[in-house]
Amino acid sequence: ATPTAVTVGIGRAAEYGILIKNGDVLEIADKINVAAFDKTGTITEGKPEVDDIIPYGISHEEVLYYIASVEKNSTHPIAKSIIKKSKEENIELTQVSNFENITGKGLKAEIDNEIILAGNKNLLEYNDIEISDEILSQYDSLLNESKTVIFLAIAGEIKGILSLSDKIKDTSKRTIEELHKMGIKTYMLTGDNENTAKTVANAVGIDDISANVLPEDKLNIVKDLQKDENKVVFVGDGINDAPALTQADIGVAMGNGTDIAMESGDVVVMEGDLENVVAAIQFSKKVMTRIK
Ligand code: ADP
Ligand code: MG
Repeated sequence: ATPTAVTVGIGRAAEYGILIKNGDVLEIADKINVAAFDKTGTITEGKPEVDDIIPYGISHEEVLYYIASVEKNSTHPIAKSIIKKSKEENIELTQVSNFENITGKGLKAEIDNEIILAGNKNLLEYNDIEISDEILSQYDSLLNESKTVIFLAIAGEIKGILSLSDKIKDTSKRTIEELHKMGIKTYMLTGDNENTAKTVANAVGIDDISANVLPEDKLNIVKDLQKDENKVVFVGDGINDAPALTQADIGVAMGNGTDIAMESGDVVVMEGDLENVVAAIQFSKKVMTRIK
């Protein structure tokens, strides 16, 4: 491609809200045959709403008080919606000490010298906390409704469950259909549980998933997908997506995502509009055929 054609192409794409940071993308787009997506904030809105709060031996307000006080120290979309819920219920939060973020699992902190855990089932297992049959069956039924479930444990005992649900973006299904029409295989990677991941993937028609993945796993899965000369586009929005965005042949960051994701992507699509991912690929192809 001539440098001028690439420059013109990049300028044209920008008018459509597609920011191409790296001109090489235009040449690779033609060869893409796998598209991998993050779930939260990419396929879904990334604005989960709190639905169920189930207390065990403490009050509803206390469950929210403990979880939200810990979540106040996190920037995760889950944290934001739990804080919002605590505000709506006028619950006054407290300062925590020894705050820790356990990647892909949740949070740990101390309140009144007691260890508080707020996170998923892996976090409980990691801390050797037992789950009774009653709690396990409530957990399973929430998972079947494809909700994200956060456990609250105080001093080694489960004291509550909080569930959240996240809407699928209006454009997700159409985007996946378009990619399939272009002969591109689709894949979803998520730190969330398998049940929720499968429900979301089925709803939008994604071919295959990997659930319960840690940020470094996302990079390795992209590497695996690149085997056999496959050319992979990865689409994500979060801090945990940055390594995979860099590894992919084309990294596409959602324009409403985190700064680090936008820095790591080769392409940034404005407004987090997924259809722009398809547009970016089609657009690059068009520029290339005109140049060739
Ligand atoms: P993704 O963005 O791919 O869904 P993350 O790695 O950000 O995945 O999170 C994976 C899982 O870790 C979440 O679904 C949740 O169960 C747990 N988790 C992450 N951050 C928090 C948090 N602030 N509070 C509670 N749980 C969390
Ligand atoms: Mg995300």
